[in-house]
Amino acid sequence: MFEHFFEIAVTSWDQEPPGWGSRINNLVVSMHKLLKPSRRRFLLNTGILAAGWELSRSDAVLSQQLLVTPSCRDGDEPTVRQTEGPFFKPKSPERADLREPGAGDRSFELSGFVLARSCRPLQGAVVDLWHADAKGEYDNTGFRYRGHVITGPDGSFRFRTIVPAVYTGRTRHYHVKVQAPGSRLLTTQLYFPNEPANLRDGLFQRELVMRVADAGDGAAGRFDFVLNVR
Ligand code: FE
Repeated sequence: MFEHFFEIAVTSWDQEPPGWGSRINNLVVSMHKLLKPSRRRFLLNTGILAAGWELSRSDAVLSQQLLVTPSCRDGDEPTVRQTEGPFFKPKSPERADLREPGAGDRSFELSGFVLARSCRPLQGAVVDLWHADAKGEYDNTGFRYRGHVITGPDGSFRFRTIVPAVYTGRTRHYHVKVQAPGSRLLTTQLYFPNEPANLRDGLFQRELVMRVADAGDGAAGRFDFVLNVR
């Protein structure tokens, strides 16, 4: 399975991110133009960009337009590993938008950065996402709510999908695999804040809770993955 996933990564490294990814890259370029390095460093040092993300609705809307600078300290611990669970399928399609036409489920925009422990952004990393639908079921025959994206030059990734339902024995969660060129494969899960079922789920870990804010008719979540490379 590891080799299989790695294969996806190898075949994808030369490709440009599709649709959404290109748009993100343009926006990130715009942001870089807006925020000259000294200005960006100042904002990062004062924590304005990092802390502001979760503070208000306007910031959530902003997050749809611009990816904020990742909050990362040199020497950060790598992201916690978790079990893959029974429903992983290799060879998911490369796509950032997992929403099903006309489903009408609550949309969710999941974005963040893939970083080394030194905070170096990891370009060309594969982020593979799979999760339950709005009824708590996985598609094990096709690829509904399954897809992967490749991080851009700044290590950023973004998916548009839905809020998965809780299912028997599990709180609300996403499954993710992340691998950068030359790094070990990270398999983990992401959780939602203020979810009552978090307290009853033995797999739940606080370190894997996304920062979530309302955004438009859905919600936006942010999580930065730190891989165990310098
Ligand atoms: Fe699951």
